[in-house]
Amino acid sequence: MSTIVDDVNRPRTFPASDAYELLVQGVVDYAVYMLDPEGRIVSWNPGAERIKGYTADEIIGEHFSRFYTEEDRAAGVPERALRIAATTGRFATEAWRCRKDGSHFWAMVVIDPIRRDGALIGFAKITRDMTEQREARLAAQESERQFSLLVQSVTDYAIYMLDLNGRVTSWNAGAERIKGYAAAEIIGEHFSRFYTPEDAEAGVPAKALETARREGRYEAEAWRRRKDGTLFWASVVVDAIYDKGVLVGFAKITRDLSERREAQLKLDQSRELLFQSQKMEAVGQLTGGLAHDFNNLLTGISGSLDLLKLRLSQGRGSEVDRYVTMAQDAAGRAAALTHRLLAFARRQTLDAKRVSANTLIAEMTELLRRTVGPEIAVETAFADDPKPILCDPNQLENAILNLCINARDAMPDGGRLRIETVNIQVSGQDARDGAMEPGAYVSIRVSDTGSGMPDDVIQHAFEPFFTTKPIGQGTGLGLSMIYGFARQSGGNVRISSVVGAGTTVSIDLPQDRGAAEGDTPAVPRSPEMPRARAGETVLIVDDEPTVRMLVADVLEGLGYAAIEAADGVSGLKVLQSDVHIDLLITDVGLPGGVNGRQMADAARLHRPDLRVLFITGYAEGAGIGEGALGRGMHLLTKPFSMQSLANQIKAIIARR
Ligand code: ADP
Ligand code: MG
Repeated sequence: MSTIVDDVNRPRTFPASDAYELLVQGVVDYAVYMLDPEGRIVSWNPGAERIKGYTADEIIGEHFSRFYTEEDRAAGVPERALRIAATTGRFATEAWRCRKDGSHFWAMVVIDPIRRDGALIGFAKITRDMTEQREARLAAQESERQFSLLVQSVTDYAIYMLDLNGRVTSWNAGAERIKGYAAAEIIGEHFSRFYTPEDAEAGVPAKALETARREGRYEAEAWRRRKDGTLFWASVVVDAIYDKGVLVGFAKITRDLSERREAQLKLDQSRELLFQSQKMEAVGQLTGGLAHDFNNLLTGISGSLDLLKLRLSQGRGSEVDRYVTMAQDAAGRAAALTHRLLAFARRQTLDAKRVSANTLIAEMTELLRRTVGPEIAVETAFADDPKPILCDPNQLENAILNLCINARDAMPDGGRLRIETVNIQVSGQDARDGAMEPGAYVSIRVSDTGSGMPDDVIQHAFEPFFTTKPIGQGTGLGLSMIYGFARQSGGNVRISSVVGAGTTVSIDLPQDRGAAEGDTPAVPRSPEMPRARAGETVLIVDDEPTVRMLVADVLEGLGYAAIEAADGVSGLKVLQSDVHIDLLITDVGLPGGVNGRQMADAARLHRPDLRVLFITGYAEGAGIGEGALGRGMHLLTKPFSMQSLANQIKAIIARR
């Protein structure tokens, strides 16, 4: 019944039995063979040879039980398999089987009975080697088991799942520990019960799932509720879980951060306190040194004045110039020092703002010089191309002052103290090491030629309260505050030191890349005083005759007409008369029941456009507050130079 091939396009046809035989012989993945009713092998295919290792010649006629393990044979498994196949129509199993070489493989076995005219004539056997698949399946099961073991045993994180409706479907040990529910009581419940009543009311739970659905993840830090009703501060992550592209639920991970939050709050508070106490310590250090200096300055001033008076009485008026200069100099320095000291002691941490390190250091150098004493030479070296930085100037001042005090302590026998600014670029490994953004920084470096720091001191130097100084001299807070300040400002602090040779501490702060306003160095004031126009009149009210006289002298020297009054009441009389007055200059604190501010306000009833310049001591000035001043009112803080007084007057009168 074979067909002659006469056309390649026409399929070849075979008798059914031949086709079947070809198919069986072509299969190598399955052992396909036949048994006679007693279990002896009557046919064998290449798949059987490949899987079991026997050739057809050596195996045909043998009993199939040899493929079974010894234990299975002893237990009569092969016979039972045939019996089951014969009676039920099929025997199927997965079990270990043996190869010719004695090795085992995991077999998927099917035995079907073959009947002809109702009589059993044998069995068809199909066997597949599933060893690899079994291993893969076991490995997957094992990793799943380990994973669920892991999730189960995590106690720091609540890890659980929600179904699409937000009902809890799994619960781990961490969830039980954090939220207080056992798995049995919470599975099937809606997760909104973990929210505060307010949050639940506001629909936060639904929004969380909605966000996770839309964006794949929802994250939050907020208060959550335990079973016993207490609240804890939680960090929450909700992830959408997809199975083959279909959303099947949500994974929730919750951490209890209550303790951490509390610690953080305490830390912030104590930082603020530390900063304050540390600053007061530094102020104490300063004032100690300054009292002495002030005496010197005062001696300079009064001495010059004495000599001035003497020379004048001797008729040697041409020689007085240098005494005047000396007194001015000393008074100028004393004024600058007080100003600094007061500004420094003010309790405030400002926000970061644009600061020129060069200017800030230049302005405090005098103060530093006096703080470290005459045995230590102070030098500064500024970057030629000054770049502004972004930080709190008060804190920066405090930091530099502390570094200088440390340097002083390291040089008990004197030495050199150098303050430098350098523009640097931080990138690559340096940025990673310092945990800093790559970019441009200004490095402020304070170097000394003192004792230096051994490695173990460097290692601990930034720790709060670490000090090597005797009790009463060191608090161990300086460097830790500086470190905190630098990190908060996006910068870093580095120490390099050689024992016996000296130390350099660098504070690297990020450059401000905003517009370059405020960066320009102050234009030196013209030494020439602005002069008045004819007829311009100024009323001066001050209870201190010397101040009044001084101001009046200056004014008259400049061509202004000056009228004087010693208290608020007499000042007001002048103001309520018809006298032409371009400007009122008055002290704020005045005797006689009417203070400067009240006098000015009363005068404005008659002279609504009256311009006023208040002169006041530091504290009073702060009391008025620049913002509380009305239009046309100005403030000049004592002490001031005659130059700035004249400038101020000119500017006010010109502004009509
Ligand atoms: P304190 O000055 O109160 O001891 P700091 O935090 O300012 O606290 O400094 C911690 C320690 O670091 C100091 O006690 C000292 O041992 C060391 N140290 C700091 N700066 C210097 C320096 N310039 N030279 C040598 N040692 C220093
Ligand atoms: Mg210190």
